[in-house]
Amino acid sequence: MSKNLTKREEDYSKWYNELVVKADLAENSGVRGCMVIKPYGYAIWEKMQAELDRMFKETGHSNAYFPLFVPKSMFEAEEKNAEGFAKECAVVTHYRLKADETQKGKLIVDPQAKLEEELVVRPTSEAIIWSTYKNWIQSYRDLPLLINQWANVVRWEMRTRLFLRTAEFLWQEGHTAHATREEAIAETEQMMQVYADFVENFMAIPVIKGVKTPNERFAGAEETYCIEALMQDGKALQAGTSHFLGQNFAQAFDVKFANKEGKQDYVWGTSWGVSTRLMGALVMTHSDDNGLVLPPNLAPIQVVIVPIYKSEEELAAISTVAHEITAALRKLRLSVKFDDRTTQKPGFKFAEWELKGVPVRMAIGPKDLEQGTVELARRDTLTKEVVRREGVEAYLVDLMETIQQSLYQKAFSYRDSHITQVDNFDEFKTILETKGGFLAAHWDGTPETEEKIKELTKATIRCIPLDQVKEEGKCVFSGAPSTGRVLFAKAY
Ligand code: AMP
Repeated sequence: MSKNLTKREEDYSKWYNELVVKADLAENSGVRGCMVIKPYGYAIWEKMQAELDRMFKETGHSNAYFPLFVPKSMFEAEEKNAEGFAKECAVVTHYRLKADETQKGKLIVDPQAKLEEELVVRPTSEAIIWSTYKNWIQSYRDLPLLINQWANVVRWEMRTRLFLRTAEFLWQEGHTAHATREEAIAETEQMMQVYADFVENFMAIPVIKGVKTPNERFAGAEETYCIEALMQDGKALQAGTSHFLGQNFAQAFDVKFANKEGKQDYVWGTSWGVSTRLMGALVMTHSDDNGLVLPPNLAPIQVVIVPIYKSEEELAAISTVAHEITAALRKLRLSVKFDDRTTQKPGFKFAEWELKGVPVRMAIGPKDLEQGTVELARRDTLTKEVVRREGVEAYLVDLMETIQQSLYQKAFSYRDSHITQVDNFDEFKTILETKGGFLAAHWDGTPETEEKIKELTKATIRCIPLDQVKEEGKCVFSGAPSTGRVLFAKAY
């Protein structure tokens, strides 16, 4: 198999696009900005879904499903949310096509079939969900209401890129309602923490937890918490968001409850989401010039066994051993593939599984049969070792854990060495252009300065970190006083 992947150093963006396609994760479709997620990519997404779903249920949430369409008037109810998303909304105006009488085989929109009220294709589901919650919530006994939905949404993005930013994407969106402000804030923070745990422990990607500036906040939220990751080209990626909605949506949709004293009050809301963008984060964090590198937790195939043989007899003998090992590994809940295709040479198979990021490759040849050994190759370090066949199963279970940890550590050191404190604007621009990464700098707290810096450098405030240290300083741009550093970066 010829890989011919562009090198990261040559053109990072090209490397990414080629890799996503060549590793069979996804491809562009006939619809602008919308992708086809291929079986191998979808298998990884399913692993993410399964783990997140487990975590949501463990924290008391249940799944439900709400419609794809939102009547325009309903969408307009929460003004800030509606205005914020308006520019990205696809709108359904008609419900029927008819034959074009002037051109055979062509269809036109039937002008007779104009909808009385246009339908917005959901860019996010607060409107439809809060209009439903009005009927579900009457008293404090109905609270908290903890719902999650797995769905697709549409945001008409102008510049798209496979997984990272698509016009239609898959995600989950949690929407919760609470009796008190404190409880809603606690939920918002809890879900940010769930995301951070998932992305760090399961995806092996270190993140910074923080809150967004008002400029970058979700439209209709009082506070947006986020987790930010750093990609290998020094650009940041928003990996997940959790919003404290205050009583905004409750007021817009008139969702009130009788509290313990019998008094009516608006409920407090949150919403939180992660999307197929996480697939992009996965690729961009761990992969290399040879292809994908998958953390064992997310790898659809964790161990691939490749037989090295000349004759059919040799293949038969190797197969017996390979089947035994496969069965034993499956008992230990490892996912294994025995690649006994006779149509491809070992070299081709090695390259293919390397490209697809399988964490460990096991090669078994006639010499291994004689000596009771197997050869293991780690995808992350590209190192090989010959180990005893006996006990290889337990060894592999441990190795998976080692690889998972080692990927995290590698990403962590990269991230840590790419947070630079800068104290003047020249330094800011130089570091941004030469090294990239996060710039920890003082900011005067005004949207004007934030906008100006973005205009001049393309860097945005990724977050005000939750562990921000209070220190007196001067804004890196305006020189006005500041009480702590925020993190700037160029971002996807
Ligand atoms: P939001 O509702 O804007 O807070 O976004 C929820 C999640 O979806 C965040 O993790 C975003 O990073 C992600 N996201 C937003 N827009 C897109 C897009 N066009 N494609 C993929 N993911 C997105």
